[in-house]
Amino acid sequence: MPKKIENVGCPYCGVCCDDLVVTVSDDGKKILEVENACAIGNQIFHHATGSERVKLPRLRQPDGTYKDISYDEAVDYAAKVLYNAKKPLIYGFGSTNCEGMAAAAKVAEKAGAVLDNCASICHGSSFLAIFDNGYPSCTLGETKNRADVIVYWGANPAHAHPRHMSRYSIFPRGFFTGKGHKGRKIIVVDPRHTDTAQVADIYLQVQQGHDYELFDAFRAVVRGHEIPEVVAGIKREQILEVAEIMKKARFGTIFYGMGLCHSDGRNHNVDIAISLTRDLNDYAKWTIMAMRGHYNITGPGAVWSWQYGFPYCLDLTKKDIAHMNPGETSSIDLAMRDEVDAFVNIGTDAGAHFPIEAVKHLRKHPWITIDPNICMASEISDLHIPVGIVGVEVPGIVYRMDNVPIQYRKVIDPPEGVISDEELFERIHKRLCELEAEEAAKGHAKAAPEGVRVGE
Ligand code: SF4
Repeated sequence: MPKKIENVGCPYCGVCCDDLVVTVSDDGKKILEVENACAIGNQIFHHATGSERVKLPRLRQPDGTYKDISYDEAVDYAAKVLYNAKKPLIYGFGSTNCEGMAAAAKVAEKAGAVLDNCASICHGSSFLAIFDNGYPSCTLGETKNRADVIVYWGANPAHAHPRHMSRYSIFPRGFFTGKGHKGRKIIVVDPRHTDTAQVADIYLQVQQGHDYELFDAFRAVVRGHEIPEVVAGIKREQILEVAEIMKKARFGTIFYGMGLCHSDGRNHNVDIAISLTRDLNDYAKWTIMAMRGHYNITGPGAVWSWQYGFPYCLDLTKKDIAHMNPGETSSIDLAMRDEVDAFVNIGTDAGAHFPIEAVKHLRKHPWITIDPNICMASEISDLHIPVGIVGVEVPGIVYRMDNVPIQYRKVIDPPEGVISDEELFERIHKRLCELEAEEAAKGHAKAAPEGVRVGE
């Protein structure tokens, strides 16, 4: 009899839907059906048992082809690369569990590496703004149960977080929001008339790269000052109308995305969005939330902040003290300045998503990819180590976009012999400790005075 497994978490986007129902075959090896997931989430599960899964580590040969090797050999290779590098970079982590992140941090610390996650090219600018200006946020449950005004600013959840609107922000009927969609005002700010804009009550077509001015205008109006007739392509009347709706809200949430983090101003766009949220709290209850991308990209921020005090761009090369300075210790900057001499790509695809110049610099040095699937990063690697898929084959803790931790379940076994990220990093750590001990022993032997045998 096929078995239905309930309350399954989706390992794709930061909405972290945990209401999936997955039907697996009698032998527990095949996924037959996935209920409640969007098209993207559905695909993640069905892809897991596809015939193209890699089941053994693959080492690149001099002729460019790959040769299957054992996990022990792969662990030894990875540990030696990290041990011999002066400044290795271990980057990614959007798509793994917190247990894997903690184990990787042990490796980074032992290797004296730079440890960074995808925030570096995503919501890292949010972190910079939050360091400066705080984070008046809430949980998604509070938005669902209380919010009567929702703003999506520079975010397109209809495509990027497909169930965000139906689970938390627009359509659900919550405790104080029994009318669902009808009881909420939806405002979308975006240069493009996106599919999210289609469901908005008010759409503001801001000029691309002029979000800062528009926030500035809203702040001026909320504080009772005059503004010009048109700001960032938006007419004064419309700004006054939206500001009035915001001031009269019972509970509002601004959800923002790459439209702020990747456009002119970056962290300053987020900084002023936070300032507007604070200003609005003089009149109504307002909150703000970053639309975090991967299902557990909030995880490394939580895990490493607890371990080292910093969420990303962690320079552990001094070994006894962590240092963080995005711009100096961020992955792209390090790559472009050719400052790292080994690269580990884990739970991401830097081959596809880094600028090509950064990839070219990184590719001059040993490149190891740790990923369940074949991707661009795996295809340009010296070594590709396959691992189990978190949320499908490996259980673990993940952090939703609102910093709420969720325990993900495992629904099927990984392909025979394939291990988890956590186990892999634990094994690399053990091998690094052995290499260190071997070198120390050699060093000791070398330093011993003539005629004295080591150990005497
Ligand atoms: S919205 Fe995101 S978390 Fe939910 S099912 Fe779709 S991809 Fe998965």
